[in-house]
Amino acid sequence: MPLLTYISATMSLKTLLQPDVVLGQTVLALTPERIQSYGIKGMVLDVDETIVPFRQADTSADLKQWFAEIRTVVSLWLVSNNTSERRIQAIAASLDVPYVARAAKPSRRKLRQVLTEMELPTHQVAMVGDRLFTDIVVGNRLGMFTIWVEPIEAMDRRSPKELLRITEIWLAQQLGAALCSSQ
Ligand SMILES: [Mg+2]
Repeated sequence: MPLLTYISATMSLKTLLQPDVVLGQTVLALTPERIQSYGIKGMVLDVDETIVPFRQADTSADLKQWFAEIRTVVSLWLVSNNTSERRIQAIAASLDVPYVARAAKPSRRKLRQVLTEMELPTHQVAMVGDRLFTDIVVGNRLGMFTIWVEPIEAMDRRSPKELLRITEIWLAQQLGAALCSSQ
């Protein structure tokens, strides 16, 4: 690959991997005041590890309370890559929010449909998730506001999912993404 092509590909990857906000905390730290300070009107939330631990089917009382508070300031959707429609449907039903499963992020197709449904300017909708190469990349590809959060529950460092997450972080940093929390 010619050097200039390589550099421009690397730079655009860095841009795609750079969240607008590195929260450094779980999603529950996003207060209505903080959300309003970002100037956003809608939020698309990833599900697994962002709002519910992967092995858990039920939504916590804390999460339900958080949803009740933030839905007063933003409209909400869940967009998951999980192929279990049943799991995501049950979580969405318990929180009373619309959802999409099998989204195949970082593909833009399903998320584009959600943005159309939301009827909001894309830059006023945040993509919120725990994974850089799926949640943050798709949000940045579409020109959304991107918020990178910590997993809702600390994962076993030896689990394959956590190893993948740590590898993604390392790779994104090698490509120049700034991932230290600004809070
Ligand atoms: Mg996730």
